Amino acid sequence: MSLYKTRGIVLRTHKLGESDRIITILTNYYGKIGAVAKGVRKTKSKFGSRLEPFTHVDLVLYKGRNLDIVTQAEIINAFSGIRDNFDRITYGSAMLDLVNKVSVEGERDIALYNLLLKSLDVLSRAKKNFRLLLIAFDIKLMAISGFMPKLGHCALCKKKPGAKLHFSFEWGGIICDECSPADKNSIIATPTAIETLSRLIRLPLNDIVDLDVIALVEDELYLLMRDYVGYYVQARLKSRECLSQFIAHSR
Ligand SMILES: [Zn+2]
Repeated sequence: MSLYKTRGIVLRTHKLGESDRIITILTNYYGKIGAVAKGVRKTKSKFGSRLEPFTHVDLVLYKGRNLDIVTQAEIINAFSGIRDNFDRITYGSAMLDLVNKVSVEGERDIALYNLLLKSLDVLSRAKKNFRLLLIAFDIKLMAISGFMPKLGHCALCKKKPGAKLHFSFEWGGIICDECSPADKNSIIATPTAIETLSRLIRLPLNDIVDLDVIALVEDELYLLMRDYVGYYVQARLKSRECLSQFIAHSR
């Protein structure tokens, strides 16, 4: 029998047939994988709630012909602090969802794995700043994915910008007022928000829980990151599509 062990975080699950589920897991060694958990929807399932989203688990899998099959699951951390609170579930789910979108099946990404694990751990214990944690998670994810935004100077002319700032998704950072016509989709950004964003990149997640950020600035950053992440996910999907077309054509 071809069995293998791995450790991972359950990103999502969906129903398969009468009583099974397909579990999507971000593993530390094999990147994202999909596996079948047989009988998991029966009340007397041997897995219990061990394969629910958020759970950090040690797994033993059987290498199947199409999908692998989970044969054992041991909880390392169920992150019950997230599951027991609706707000934490909302922001934690947004983290799982983004990781599911940007991760590639079978492609190991230990930085992404560590970022998700740390973020869930901090979120499960946080008393406040849930949304700020999500913003910090988003910007850190962009940074480790090679999309670190340029925040110190204008992404186009490289000058230190004046008080009037714009953020350009296309150019990946701030652009000054003079350069702003180069991207008609750029948005106005406040210097305080950009400064806060720089801090969120630098600060460890543990410290973000205690940060005091003005609500207006947080609102601005939330929308900015939502759109920047959306732009990035689109770009990534498109480049993956181009790559698979390229592979198909070169066969
Ligand atoms: Zn400029």
